[in-house]
Amino acid sequence: MQSLGHLEFALKLPQWASLREGDSPADACPSQPGTARLVTAAIDQIMSVAPTKLIHIGADEVFTLGTCKVCRGRNTAPLQLYVEHVSKIARHVKSQWGARVLIWDDMLRHAPTTLLHTLAGLVEPTVWAYGPDVTRMVPPYILRTYAAVFPNVWVAPAFKGATGPRALMPDAARHAANTLAWIEVGRRMKSYSGLSVAGIIITGWSRYDHFAVLCELLPPSTPSLVLSLLTASRGYLTPATLHDVHALLDCPSHVVIDPARDPHLWASRNCAFPGANVASLLHSYISLRDDIRRMMKEAEETGGWLTKYNIDHNFSPPKRIREATVDLRRLTFGLSDLREEALGVLSQYHDTATVSEWIEQHLVPLNLTLTNLAQTTERLLSVSTWPRRPLDWLPSGGA
Ligand SMILES: [Zn+2]
Repeated sequence: MQSLGHLEFALKLPQWASLREGDSPADACPSQPGTARLVTAAIDQIMSVAPTKLIHIGADEVFTLGTCKVCRGRNTAPLQLYVEHVSKIARHVKSQWGARVLIWDDMLRHAPTTLLHTLAGLVEPTVWAYGPDVTRMVPPYILRTYAAVFPNVWVAPAFKGATGPRALMPDAARHAANTLAWIEVGRRMKSYSGLSVAGIIITGWSRYDHFAVLCELLPPSTPSLVLSLLTASRGYLTPATLHDVHALLDCPSHVVIDPARDPHLWASRNCAFPGANVASLLHSYISLRDDIRRMMKEAEETGGWLTKYNIDHNFSPPKRIREATVDLRRLTFGLSDLREEALGVLSQYHDTATVSEWIEQHLVPLNLTLTNLAQTTERLLSVSTWPRRPLDWLPSGGA
């Protein structure tokens, strides 16, 4: 349950808009008593339905912290406001529910040690970095500081998300390298700095934030998850690990699971794990999308007979139009088949809202492109005589 930033799912609504730090619907103002009331009420609801001994209260990426008029009027450093707010929430969780409280660590990376000490008994930082070189984002001196202040920290790689807000299949090679890097850094920092790593949290995002479109879906990300889990639990990644991934994903013998040569593990679409049919759907989608893009690029950019100019002036000969759109029929049928496949396959794993959202974000734009091209083609083909040159000047576009 987020407790200060990333609260746009609540702050976007009119009843909580007044709690925003500024014009960002993501960040709440720590100076308004309503913020802690909203967050603790949400935590209480979650804990009463799903009691737990460990709760993560987020608190990361509070980009506009301390910038509102009320906060500035308090003459208190933004990080001090942050620590006071997080402490208030953590104390509530501890007294009401007796649970351990985790937060993301990024807001603490440049905090003075004295401030960190006030959080020491209250929260356990989860140190996140999602690239293969985690110390670039979290240099060892930060981990040494945490080791000196906090009895426990957690480390966090990701198995999906974090590589692009519109990614379709996780880069399993990158995510496994990220997981391995955390295992190694954790081990090293434990022996050199006494860092106590309580555990590893392998996150997987389905969107970058509440307003973003979908990124990698869970079912086709199973191979990346399995690879990261095996890497994390064993502490190394060897051919034997890949052999076990192959077996766990129920792959036939001809399928090769090799992140070095196939970073997204597309080969896994031919295995039998639940979700392989979504990977197969995505593979077909990418191939069709790329064919459509190629056709449109040829029509609009490379070719000389179906550009915006030709279309605006209804000025192109039938032979050239047919050449430029020779694949249009095949691609239109292909898209229609893919839509049926998407409805059938995605509905096995996702609710109607997610299935509709995926189709709207991926297939509807392609359909619009093809429909527009079909209509344009039909119109241009209906013309059989053309005006003399020079053609009329149509600075704002023609038909
Ligand atoms: Zn404020």
